[in-house]
Amino acid sequence: MSNTLLSSIDPAPYLMFPERKPSPFVLVSDHAGRKVPEKLGDLGVGKEDWDRHIAWDIGIGEVGQLLHKALGSVLIEQVYSRLVIDCNRAPGHKTSIPHVSDETAVPGNIHAPETCRQMREKEILHPYHDVIEEVLSQRGQKPTALIALHSFTPQFGGKKRPWDIGILHNRDKRMSQIMLNLLREDPELCVGDNEPYVLTDTSDYTVPYHAETKGLPYLEIEIRQDLIGDKAGQHLWAERLAYLLPMVWERMAHD
Ligand SMILES: [Zn+2]
Repeated sequence: MSNTLLSSIDPAPYLMFPERKPSPFVLVSDHAGRKVPEKLGDLGVGKEDWDRHIAWDIGIGEVGQLLHKALGSVLIEQVYSRLVIDCNRAPGHKTSIPHVSDETAVPGNIHAPETCRQMREKEILHPYHDVIEEVLSQRGQKPTALIALHSFTPQFGGKKRPWDIGILHNRDKRMSQIMLNLLREDPELCVGDNEPYVLTDTSDYTVPYHAETKGLPYLEIEIRQDLIGDKAGQHLWAERLAYLLPMVWERMAHD
């Protein structure tokens, strides 16, 4: 038996859609996929739970790919489920291999030995972040913004979440404030400012690590999952973002 986690029948840990036309945006999606390495089986999680948000960010993989088509921007999507390893958590983070997720136990993680964590980090988390790093460094001095794409569940802990879209920010609020203002111009939209989550150095990894430490402007975008659960919704939200993102970029340049 080989001493790697991934074998020849498992997919590579990320999907890469190269830049098709000049764009300042590097699109990344930590929770786009829900694959599990063959050796881990189903982690003891029932089939119906694999369809839930605990496994992945429903709809966002498609929105990212439509956005890549519309803007031509490079897109990197994680392929494996966040139940295998959460790629928006720092290596070694205590919640990156969850024992319980939204009240559902993940037995395959509870009983996972330390070597299993190391393999998941080495073969899934690091290759994904290394390729983001490589894409960013290859851009050199080209003006660049990191756009992190997520989706969130309409309900959590028995509470309804009213927001259609949330924009998360930490120290650097350059792009988020412009995006929030643009979104609020649409009276139909319920817009969350650091909702349903607050972006921090410890609860997140991708934006703090790749953008804030390098001084890159960024957006962390969260779309409510029921709005992008079907093709029509995915197209609508991809079109909305494809319209707004260049506008945010333009306004930032003139600020
Ligand atoms: Zn997410």
